[in-house]
Order: sequence, then C-alpha cells, then structure tokens
Amino acid sequence: MELRLHDTLSREKRPFVPLDAKNVRMYVCGPTVYDFAHIGNARPVIVFDVLFRLLRHLYGDAHVKYVRNITDVDDKINDRAARDFPGLPLNEAIRKVTEQTGKQFHADVDALGALRPSVEPRATEHIGEMREIIERLVKAGFAYVAEDHVLFSPQAMNADNTGLPRYGALSNRSLDEMVAGARVDVAPYKKGNTDFVLWKPSKPGEPSWPSPAGIKAEGRPGWHIECSAMAWKHLGEHFDIHGGGIDLVFPHHENEVAQTCCAFHQQRMANYWMHNGFLQVESEKMSKSLGNFITIHELLADWPGEVLRLNMLKTHYRSPIDWTMKSLEESAKTLDDWYRLAADVEPGRPAASVVEPLLDDLNTPLAIAALHGLRGGDVAALAGSLRLLGFLSASAGQWESRKQQASGVDAKEVERLIAERTAARSRKDFGESDRIRDLLAAMGVAIKDSKEGTTWEIAR
Ligand code: AMP
Ligand code: ZN
Repeated sequence: MELRLHDTLSREKRPFVPLDAKNVRMYVCGPTVYDFAHIGNARPVIVFDVLFRLLRHLYGDAHVKYVRNITDVDDKINDRAARDFPGLPLNEAIRKVTEQTGKQFHADVDALGALRPSVEPRATEHIGEMREIIERLVKAGFAYVAEDHVLFSPQAMNADNTGLPRYGALSNRSLDEMVAGARVDVAPYKKGNTDFVLWKPSKPGEPSWPSPAGIKAEGRPGWHIECSAMAWKHLGEHFDIHGGGIDLVFPHHENEVAQTCCAFHQQRMANYWMHNGFLQVESEKMSKSLGNFITIHELLADWPGEVLRLNMLKTHYRSPIDWTMKSLEESAKTLDDWYRLAADVEPGRPAASVVEPLLDDLNTPLAIAALHGLRGGDVAALAGSLRLLGFLSASAGQWESRKQQASGVDAKEVERLIAERTAARSRKDFGESDRIRDLLAAMGVAIKDSKEGTTWEIAR
C-alpha cells in the first residue's frame, strides 16, 4: 500500500509522491520561545514526529529532511524579557528568555519521545534570507515600502496574468470578501486593507537589523517572512510537506505561500499542506483565564512522556481532541501492558496491520487498535511496531522507575516499608502489617502478595 496524505490546499487525500525520493523534505512551524509549551503545542510535535518516523521507515533515515524552526524574534518575547529581567538591557534579557525557553522546549519534547528534527533553524540566524526575499518581492511589484515598513500586497498577487496561484486558495477564502470584511482602523501607511507586514521599524532598544529595500532605519521582520526564509534556506523554493496546527492556515500559511511563490515565481511552496486539529481540555477550550491551561512540563511531573504521546495518538490528527484525566489513566494502563509484554523483546519488522493504517493519512487510532490485536500473537512484531510509533524507548525496568519518579514515590522507602511489613507478618503482627499496607496505599502504592513475595506498583 502507498502512503496517502490529506492536503489542506486540494482538500483531498492524495498518494504521496516525493519530489525526490532520495531527499524527502518537510517543514513544520515550531514554537515561539517565550513561555513553557502547553499540551496543545505538543500535538504538532507528536503528530509530525510520527510522520517523520514513517517517512524514514519508507525512504530510509538518510533520505528524509525535517525542518522545524524556532521563532526567537517576536513581540511576546520582548514583553516577557522586559517583565522577567527588568534590570538587564533588552537584548540581553531577550537572549535569556529565548535560551531558557528553548532548552525547556527540548527537554519537554525529548520526554515525549519526539526525534530531534534534522535542522532547527532560528529566525534571528536567517535575517539575510528574509531581506533577500523581501528585495525580490519589492522588485517584482508584490511589495512596497511605506513609512519604513515593507508591506505585501495580496491584490498585486491576484492581479490578472501573473501566472501565480491565487491568494486565499489555501484557506479557501476570497480576497474580495477579505477586503470587504477588513477592519476599518487599518494602519494609514497600508495601500490596501489586507496588506501584511514583511518588515517593520524597531522601537529604540528592541532587536534590530539593517533593513532591506533602501530603508535607512534599522528594523525587524514580520512573523510570516521568517518561515518562508528558513524553509527556502534549508529545503529550497519548493518542497514536499508543510505542517502545523489548523490555526496557522490563515493568515500564517496563506502568507507564507504568497511570499514564497511570488519571490521565486513558483506555482507551489509545498506539495502537501498538513494541519493538526485543535486540542481542548476536559471539553473546554484551554485558556489561562479558565485555569485549565496545562504545560507539558507540569504533565511530565505526573506522567511519563510516553503516556502523553499515546494519549495524543489515540485521536486522528485532523480531528479535535479532548484531553481528559480519564483518558490519560487508560493510556498509562495500556503502556504498562505493552512494556510488560514487549519492552525486553528483540523488535521484529513492524506488523502490516499497524503500518497500513499509518499509510492511510496517519490513522493512528486504527494503528493502536491493531497493536491491541497483536498482544496475544507475534510479540516481536508488536515490539517493532511500537518502536516505529516512538514507544518503548526504555527497558521494562526503566519504565517502572520512570513511572515511580513521575508519581513522586520514593522506591527505596517503599522497599523498606515492604521489608518491615514482611517482618511484621512473619511474627504474626497483623495490626502492624495492615498499618504499613494503609500507609503505602496513602502514598499511592498498591502491593500484591504471592508465593514469590510481595510486589508493588503505582496505583492510578
Ligand atoms: P504557537 O507557539 O502558538 O505558534 O504554536 C505552536 C504550534 O502549536 C503551532 O503549530 C500551533 O498550531 C499549535 N497549537 C497551538 N495551540 C494548539 C492547540 N490548542 N491544539 C493543537 N495545536 C495547537
Ligand atoms: Zn511558520
């Protein structure tokens, strides 16, 4: 069976044919590094990690290039830096914020079992490429300079006979309707009310770089141009897959396509546009004000990363996902089972019953159902299939201690109490033995007595 992927632009599932099977290229929009990543941000990380693993399985590890950027220039970063490090010069404070947040992001996504992308470009290291794309756009008449800004004109792109794709095609919007519906308080320097910023002046003290297009004052890039520049540098003018969350389709990805296609006179930027659905928590939209805003970091204090990974993959990537405690508990039980059965088994080839649903637009819920079907049968295929999906990164023993670590239970203390209880039982002091059992239960530890002795696990 061949790989088929759903493309947001053509709105259909199509067979995946890479431009170059020796160099399959994928770009995914990465985090803006100003705060802990939340569990919604983990969704594209996990989803596109599964796709990366699947592509490597199909085309070979050396033939897939995955680029996920780090946005390290943004107003939110500047605001956070000024708030958290008021005594430092702004640029130094910004470096601290982006370095700390970047490190935390890596720690989080490593724990989720996500492979590092082939390249993780930083926006601030690609200002030269941004300037070049902007220069090209101005020369070709798709962008103009006004009051030290450079603006892109979607109307210029949609003029007759440009031979270019239509602005609005990706998000399925009509430019005329966008023009009619635009806000009235548009910045006065904009010629058209849908024009968007490619470059803008920096305020005093803010990060700034020499400007393109003959602008004297230093400035900084808009958000959309960053991804066009980084994708171009690392993947070229036209590549295979571009991904991100569904919220990025408009305006971010619509504007990326516009910039790249107009700068390089291309019909397409990426051949497949893939978008993951949104995540909500206990049936509510996640937000700071509702108090249901959960970071990956917080969840990792209570659950091993693989539990979060499985919990994410139980839902198809294009559907919305409802993140619940109940579902997390079930995911933890499933992983216990898989670790017990397959962690210490030499992995075999992934089972066809697991790979086939993945080939059908990453149908992970069906792949997981197939994994359950393998439980009583070919354990080597189960182990190989689980590894293909990024599970079983630890041995069974490490899994137990990771669970204990995440639960905050001190394994040494548990062993000591169990030894005391065994001693109490052998001297028939059942009052003391019951007291210790209750104490362990209060610590969240369940014990089981058998002929071989007493074993324990974290009670969920
Ligand atoms: P941001 O840092 O907000 O640009 O988001 C980084 C990535 O996370 C983007 O691909 C977003 O589409 C994605 N994302 C943000 N919030 C959610 C959510 N609640 N559910 C799913 N994906 C999300
Ligand atoms: Zn982007």
